[in-house]
Amino acid sequence: MAIKNEMRLEFPSRPENVGLARVAVAAFATQLDYTLADLEEIKVAVSEAVTNAIVHGYGGGAEGTVTIRAYLHDDALEVLVEDQGRGIDDVSRALEAGYSTDPERPGLGFVFMQSFMDRLEVDSAPGRGTRIVMYKLLSRKEQ
Ligand code: ATP
Ligand code: MG
Repeated sequence: MAIKNEMRLEFPSRPENVGLARVAVAAFATQLDYTLADLEEIKVAVSEAVTNAIVHGYGGGAEGTVTIRAYLHDDALEVLVEDQGRGIDDVSRALEAGYSTDPERPGLGFVFMQSFMDRLEVDSAPGRGTRIVMYKLLSRKEQ
């Protein structure tokens, strides 16, 4: 797949940067002809992935770095969200609906990412960090 454009955004793991991340990726995605509904779904998926990096990866501390890379393909947006935080012990368990290591949380972030995006890959190693790769296909609008 040819890459038409790319971006990279890096910021400290502060919760106030979640809004920046979701708007930046959505603005980048408008270079493809996504519907408003698609852009909203991209925003939610990016928010969930970045929130996870901050809250779980870095345990809420601001000294970590979150890196987002996004690539525009002819018919898809690819988004990577990376942290060098604590990593996930059991990825398949983490992907289950309702599973959270924090009893205060509903455990639905990955469910949103999976349902709002067309593909989700989770690459994680305990103690080293987590990389999420998500794809959103461009469904052509009805003419
Ligand atoms: P919610 O997203 O509904 O607030 P949650 O964050 O616990 O709750 P998910 O986003 O589905 O639910 O994540 C499931 C679990 O996977 C988390 O509870 C956490 O243990 C682990 N996890 C997810 N992302 C990361 C990450 N970047 N680093 C470390 N652990 C993670
Ligand atoms: Mg979450």
